[in-house]
Amino acid sequence: MIGEARGGKVGLVGTGMVGSSFAYALMQRRVASELVMIDLDPRRAEGEAMDLNHGLPFVSPMRVRAGTYDDLADAEVVVITAGRNQRPGETRLDLLAKNAAVIEDIVPKVAAASPSAIQLIATNPVDVLTQIAAEAAGLPHGRVLGSGTVLDTARFRYLLGEHFRVNPRSVHAYIIGEHGDTQVPVWSLATIGGVGLDTFVGAQGRSKDLVDRERIAEQTRTAAYEIIQRKQATYYAIGLALVSIVEAILRDQKTVLTVCSPLEHLEGLSGPMSSSLPTVVGRGGAEHVIDLPLTPAERSAFLQSTQTLRKGLDEVRGIGGSFA
Ligand code: NAD
Repeated sequence: MIGEARGGKVGLVGTGMVGSSFAYALMQRRVASELVMIDLDPRRAEGEAMDLNHGLPFVSPMRVRAGTYDDLADAEVVVITAGRNQRPGETRLDLLAKNAAVIEDIVPKVAAASPSAIQLIATNPVDVLTQIAAEAAGLPHGRVLGSGTVLDTARFRYLLGEHFRVNPRSVHAYIIGEHGDTQVPVWSLATIGGVGLDTFVGAQGRSKDLVDRERIAEQTRTAAYEIIQRKQATYYAIGLALVSIVEAILRDQKTVLTVCSPLEHLEGLSGPMSSSLPTVVGRGGAEHVIDLPLTPAERSAFLQSTQTLRKGLDEVRGIGGSFA
């Protein structure tokens, strides 16, 4: 590498579609000085690093290389995107059992190579795997987190922005709970430019009925299925979402993002469970989970969603035995 690289050192385990999309987006954001790429298939990691390096003449200086776990020493953040997607005929639980084994293999190796690194999980089912990763890593609270519903929240904001014809960046609205079917849109706290959606619509002289909540929530929830039907996988938006989380950590931005991290003392749950809520993300990882003033219906839906996740964790522990 020629030139002065700025920013922190980042590791990436899993250089498939999601991992390489993240790497491509990271190169363009000027937040990392170095990226070490690791994959079960070392030639895949090498090929991705070569391809990315050939783009360096067009972006700010950065060191990009394929490596091994030893090369993660001093990494500030390690992003884990290793594992696979659901295949036809495979249940969510089958996928969970397979990817749980992948995460249990990787996380202790990362913790041993770089004990102070924040570990950011994206592998699905991300919420359950973040809980497994947090327990396997044995790191202080908040230092293992998952991408959670950051992508679902982005989809929600995009759809609301399209609906109301405003920049999605001016929409503040969250999806909480599971990154999946039981996710919860928090309509009661959704705002555009600081005002509630009904007020925003009213101020434009439009009918409240224009807030087509059912359709927008459904499109947010089923977005991944729709994309997978058309192109087999989703990777660009999650790549950008992961860069935003990494940037918040490296620059200690204290950005509020709907990441998932182990939550304790939730009603109806026997132990901690990772689930997504708006969280202040900074150098300490998931630093502070915001206690949202949800309506009783939203609170109940969030707890049910998190209980569904806990059930998945308990089932995989029962099936796998090794997680018990
Ligand atoms: P992919 O098949 O393209 O890539 C997966 C990579 O992981 C492969 O290169 C494989 O060799 C590697 N790998 C597998 N086991 C490994 C191990 N033990 N150590 C190191 N590397 C290993 O898959 P993808 O499309 O990149 O998806 C990766 C994961 O990300 C999937 O679980 C997918 O469901 C998930 N995903 C999450 C989100 C989200 O919002 N969190 C969004 C999209 C995809």
